[in-house]
Amino acid sequence: MKVLVVNAGSSSIKYQVMDMTDESVLAKGLVDRVGIPGTTLKHEPTGKDDVLIKQDLPDHTAGMKLVLEVLINPEYGCLKSMDEIGAVGHRVVHGGEDFAESVVIDDKVKKVIRDCFDVAPLHNPPNLMGIEACEELMPNVKHVAVFDTAFHQTMTPANFMYALPYDVYEKYKVRRYGFHGTSHFYVAHRAAEMLGKAYEDCKIVTLHLGNGASMAAISNGKVVDTSMGFTPLEGLVMGTRSGDIDPAIVFFLMDKLNLDANEANNYFNKKSGLLGLSGVSNDLRDVIEAAEAGNERAQMALDVYHNKIKGYIGNYIAKLNGCDCIVFTAGVGENGIGTREEICKDLEALGIKMDTAKNKVRGKEVDVSTPDSKVKIFLIPTNEELVIARDTYTLAK
Ligand code: AMP
Repeated sequence: MKVLVVNAGSSSIKYQVMDMTDESVLAKGLVDRVGIPGTTLKHEPTGKDDVLIKQDLPDHTAGMKLVLEVLINPEYGCLKSMDEIGAVGHRVVHGGEDFAESVVIDDKVKKVIRDCFDVAPLHNPPNLMGIEACEELMPNVKHVAVFDTAFHQTMTPANFMYALPYDVYEKYKVRRYGFHGTSHFYVAHRAAEMLGKAYEDCKIVTLHLGNGASMAAISNGKVVDTSMGFTPLEGLVMGTRSGDIDPAIVFFLMDKLNLDANEANNYFNKKSGLLGLSGVSNDLRDVIEAAEAGNERAQMALDVYHNKIKGYIGNYIAKLNGCDCIVFTAGVGENGIGTREEICKDLEALGIKMDTAKNKVRGKEVDVSTPDSKVKIFLIPTNEELVIARDTYTLAK
């Protein structure tokens, strides 16, 4: 069976076609600036030249229609006809408390996705647009939702509850959910294979460090804790998100900067993090470059960034009462040689010892710890699309 994986954002659609007989990628691509003048589609068929199409598209349905045309194009497509696609897997950011696993989409599932608009206003509405566009164009195949929150649903109240009046949990489901679940799931399972142990017997700390960043603590095959919370704003320092702060700062700055709730949300999500702290960029590479050129504020931003991650490693090893391995993944985790080194520096007391020579590597599955390190340090490139395709295939079969 061939599976189409779709990740629809507010103005973009990422896609990938996989042949599940050998899990090979037949093609992938990105439609950018959907609904905005200057729409482009970049199509990357395996074994053929990339194709760039410029064509303004009013909405996600038009975007998906173009994707399907490209996929069956005799010159650069990867399918003879759309009938070859057996199922479509959709990335959905928020599934609330209703979904601890992927599901075949029906009206009830769509209602839950819609009910979560309030808590994921930037993600769930475009995710649903992508689903409805695909359903319209491919009505005869199964559509599957794979949720970013699902993997973390094993957390117990000790880790998912906030110390707020209980009725806000009952009425509004204010609690910690966690995100990037598909990525944490993938790298944790690969880590168990690298350890040569059953996944259920491992204690693993995963670090998904990209523009958005989160960590997870996993034991007995269950997520014990994760750093993102009610929204993806909580936790680590990110490109433009503050991560953990004293919540009183929100009221203080709303007053001082005269911000309404929307503006405050924007301030902590879009203007903070590495960007706000360094004044240079949300891109870690730029901040590192500025620090190396002597920019002290950029160096301070890096210090805060590393320090926060080290704190979570300690927190999670305490919660797991030990740890077999820590795993670096995503843009920074896979490529940031110096960043991984800074994070692992001075963690010998926790049993973490990096071999800095082995660590000089990018984008490969590798163990970069010293032979006597109690905790292994793995670098594992993530593959969220593969997890989505596998779940979709399993449910559609
Ligand atoms: P992602 O969101 O997973 O695509 O990751 C994007 C982040 O990865 C950006 O902050 C990039 O600066 C960062 N990144 C990519 N390559 C490197 C690198 N060689 N060193 C440090 N950070 C990197």
